[in-house]
Amino acid sequence: MADEARTTQCCIAGGGPAGMMLGLLLARAGVDVTVLEKHPDFLRDFRGDTIHPSTLELMHELGWLEELLALPHQKSPKLRFQNGSHDVVVADFSHLPTHARYIAFMPQWDLLDFLARKASAYPGFHLRRRAEVTDVLREKGCVTGVRAKTPEGVLEVRASLVVAADGRTSAVRQRAGFEVEALGAPMDVLWFRVARKATDPVDPMGRFEQGQIFILINRGDEWQCGRVIAKGSFDALREAGLSCFREDVARVAPFLADRTHEIRGWDDVKLLTVRVDRLRTWYQPGLLCIGDAAHAMSPVGGVGINLAVQDAVAAANLLAGPLLARHVTPRDLRRVQERREWPTRLTQRAQVLIQNRVLSPALRRPAPSRRLPLPLWLVQHAPVLRRIPARLVGMGLRPEHIRTPVAGASP
Ligand SMILES: Cc1cc2nc3c(=O)[nH]c(=O)nc-3n(C[C@H](O)[C@H](O)[C@H](O)COP(=O)(O)OP(=O)(O)OC[C@H]3O[C@@H](n4cnc5c(N)ncnc54)[C@H](O)[C@@H]3O)c2cc1C
Repeated sequence: MADEARTTQCCIAGGGPAGMMLGLLLARAGVDVTVLEKHPDFLRDFRGDTIHPSTLELMHELGWLEELLALPHQKSPKLRFQNGSHDVVVADFSHLPTHARYIAFMPQWDLLDFLARKASAYPGFHLRRRAEVTDVLREKGCVTGVRAKTPEGVLEVRASLVVAADGRTSAVRQRAGFEVEALGAPMDVLWFRVARKATDPVDPMGRFEQGQIFILINRGDEWQCGRVIAKGSFDALREAGLSCFREDVARVAPFLADRTHEIRGWDDVKLLTVRVDRLRTWYQPGLLCIGDAAHAMSPVGGVGINLAVQDAVAAANLLAGPLLARHVTPRDLRRVQERREWPTRLTQRAQVLIQNRVLSPALRRPAPSRRLPLPLWLVQHAPVLRRIPARLVGMGLRPEHIRTPVAGASP
């Protein structure tokens, strides 16, 4: 029995990049949308701060690029990898056919706050925080809404369409019984932070060193550090002790040696269990999955946010019309999967290849290697090749464009 019931045209479970972008675009097109987000705010742990050129281009198409870039961020026109004594630029975004030719590093909560602020200017947009979706409602084999837990009690939302954008541990996809295809991942990532000094390098970078892979992301006054480890090896690292862990950090990034004491305990080190998976079918009558809920991405290339946003744009382009006509069919939902499935599959295939051919061997190699892995050697000696990873990471396959109409007042 529900304590509260409401009806909307589209109910979106999850206010991450996919859910907020879809909610914004549908509300802008005149659709009544309710986004249910389980957290009270967007101020959560690090989940990636990258805004890719393709997402920045969408902001340009919406006329909001300058306003977004007025928020604090760092621009990275290049991505670098250091391997032993080699310093290699692996991606150069400066040739992309976009208005912003760089990755903008901005805290994800700032991006989500920005999208929420823009969306709230449209009368059809409703964001309900502290509402955790726990189940889907069905009638005659069709999903007709969701049930959510709120501080005030049980909320039931009925909708012509439910969209699962509740991330890689999606409760909706689990409750709806979707079949998940797992692709496997040989590694996990440990995330932690240390202070950043003005004299430190500026660019984000990856470092391969003696069986270790580190990622360093400039977040202004701190470094967001990721250490890639062989899957399941976190317990062994903990047993070896925190001082060993700190020494590893200092060896791989010597300029951080005076700050490793800031890692005070294992509570400061967060384990991201990497998983790469996808749904065989992204939809059921009345229900569509997008973003990580449809396909959890590997951290390779840092493209998860980008793909989630691209799914949202494609879904809005294809579904705004049927939603406004109050008639969304499984065929409409299938068109979203058909549009986004092959870019997702090819991206995951490339990620799995890099995981297995580059990262896994590098993690097993305890001694420093004087030779660069072939892909790094190629981009070092033929700089024009840096445009290929730049295109794949910065724009992705099949970049989407805003095609939804605008209804109501523009913010
Ligand atoms: C540590 C870490 C680092 C990452 N680094 C990067 C990076 O550098 N670049 C990059 O592109 N990607 C990165 N990613 C991946 C990226 O965060 C995801 O691919 C992206 O956020 C997916 O967007 P999404 O909207 O599909 O899902 P999510 O961002 O996971 O959003 C899901 C939302 O749903 C909410 N939610 C969950 N369950 C429920 C429920 N039952 N009811 C209501 N709400 C719910 C969550 O609170 C969340 O707000 C990283 C991920 C992690 C964990």
